[in-house]
Amino acid sequence: MAEVKSDIEIARAAKKKPIQEIGAKIGIPPEHLLPYGHDKAKVSAEFIAEARKRPDGKLILVTAINPTPAGEGKTTTTVGLGDGLNRIGKKAIVCIREASLGPCFGMKGGAAGGGYAQVVPMEDINLHFTGDFHAITSAHNLLSALIDNHIYWGNELGIDTRRITWRRVMDMNDRALRQIVTSLGGVANGFPREAGFDITVASEVMAILCLATDLRDLQKRLGDIIIGYRRDKSPVFARDLKADGAMAVLLKDALQPNLVQTLENNPAFVHGGPFANIAHGCNSVMATTTALKLADYVVTEAGFGADLGAEKFFDIKCRKAGLKPAAAVIVATVRALKMNGGVKKEDLGIENVAALEAGCANLGRHIENVKQFGVPAIVAINHFHTDTPAEIEAVKRYVAAQGEEAVVCRHWALGSAGTEELAHKVVELAESRASQFAPLYRDDMPLFEKIDTIVKRIYRGSGAIADKSVRAQLKQWEEQGYGHLPVCMAKTQYSFSTDPNLRGAPVDHAVPVREVRLSAGAGFVVAICGEIMTMPGLPRVPAAQSIFLNEQGYIEGLS
Ligand code: ADP
Ligand code: MG
Repeated sequence: MAEVKSDIEIARAAKKKPIQEIGAKIGIPPEHLLPYGHDKAKVSAEFIAEARKRPDGKLILVTAINPTPAGEGKTTTTVGLGDGLNRIGKKAIVCIREASLGPCFGMKGGAAGGGYAQVVPMEDINLHFTGDFHAITSAHNLLSALIDNHIYWGNELGIDTRRITWRRVMDMNDRALRQIVTSLGGVANGFPREAGFDITVASEVMAILCLATDLRDLQKRLGDIIIGYRRDKSPVFARDLKADGAMAVLLKDALQPNLVQTLENNPAFVHGGPFANIAHGCNSVMATTTALKLADYVVTEAGFGADLGAEKFFDIKCRKAGLKPAAAVIVATVRALKMNGGVKKEDLGIENVAALEAGCANLGRHIENVKQFGVPAIVAINHFHTDTPAEIEAVKRYVAAQGEEAVVCRHWALGSAGTEELAHKVVELAESRASQFAPLYRDDMPLFEKIDTIVKRIYRGSGAIADKSVRAQLKQWEEQGYGHLPVCMAKTQYSFSTDPNLRGAPVDHAVPVREVRLSAGAGFVVAICGEIMTMPGLPRVPAAQSIFLNEQGYIEGLS
């Protein structure tokens, strides 16, 4: 095989156009682009407000089978499909999330796609970009500082320092900060208490920024944040500390979507990046709704597999923002299907049709699930060079037997030339007007029933189980007026069950809900099923060890 270029080498060789030219392609005049350098820009609030009157294009969701260490390539396929649609003459915009520094220097790598399906400038997008995450970190920590300051000056609100739920955040994987004691060192430093840090993407401020529809809505949601409770367990809001105004000020620019380009000079919005476990895991509502006004097709990605990512995209983002997806693309790879069929990572290079066929049960379940939301689905086989013709045929055969179609895509190796067929099929699906999108459950369903519905209909478990205390908490929130909120499931992304090692398509497993949390500002109730990590750690050999500046001053080692 010819030498394979790394993602960063391909990205560096990109022939980028000035960002004004990319804006012009989707009708954004230069005066409404707020440039950050030559190749990144925010879109002005005035332009966005003005564009609201226009009709919407069609929304395409890219989701996937349950992730495995073999990699699926949702972002890569999202970018590849966007380029493919532009190639066949459609006006298409890609909408994806911003990258967090944690995974960049830890294990997972960047979030700009891969191979010949990437957004650029890749280094900037993966590092500081336009400063949105810094703004979110600052806004979050401002509220943290205001809480301890309020207590220092007499605690007029009567905050119970043992019941403060608002932590601090930073955009780094740092397990040392998970649990800390603050205000040590004497009277002048306040009242010592247990506290801790989460990673910025796990901040409720991130989820709020991604669900807010404008600045006013952003500020209202910030005010609605519950920072903790009094001794009588009544909630204390960010609004009570008069924090919402200053937080909104810090977030004013961050709320505007960022425009960049793909390797093929097509427009992409890269904006927001909430965790896909304790938050909903998709890019901002501002970016998606704006893109829909400017293009015929908007291709967007939801985190993790379809059981978590697509479900939350439909039940939280689409429900709240009034979005109606026209079609969904389910990304599968031969490698990941083989892993679902029991093959070990080191044996993935060997043809194994039997294991692949067994693993297809996972794909079949996701196809059925997406269709439960009334959204027509197509499977994209993200081609890896180790895939054999017999394996590809087996996937196609399996999907055809489910009454759907699977298309091979080679965007990673070929760019848009590798997604032409998929692009045509997606257009056909979207134009068939077959989408009858509806969320899975109604707003007025009791909270526990919402969780149980997801467990039974999406995870195919026997039901949700929870202690009395969890059920009582949910009841209390219903009484306090939060019963209409959607639920945000926090569960392992590796399985339909709560056991990460149970691949394939398990049935009849019980799903224990260990804890529930109210994100009153973001507007959802988080149901925690199993271990979840809001401050990841670095692996034994972090990616940071191989990231450096070469002799020309270029960044090496980002992927
Ligand atoms: P996801 O969005 O599902 O997490 P990404 O699109 O970010 O996945 O891809 C993860 C990694 O896999 C990237 O480094 C990308 O370059 C690589 N990758 C994706 N598709 C392919 C492919 N077809 N062949 C080889 N590597 C790929
Ligand atoms: Mg991704």
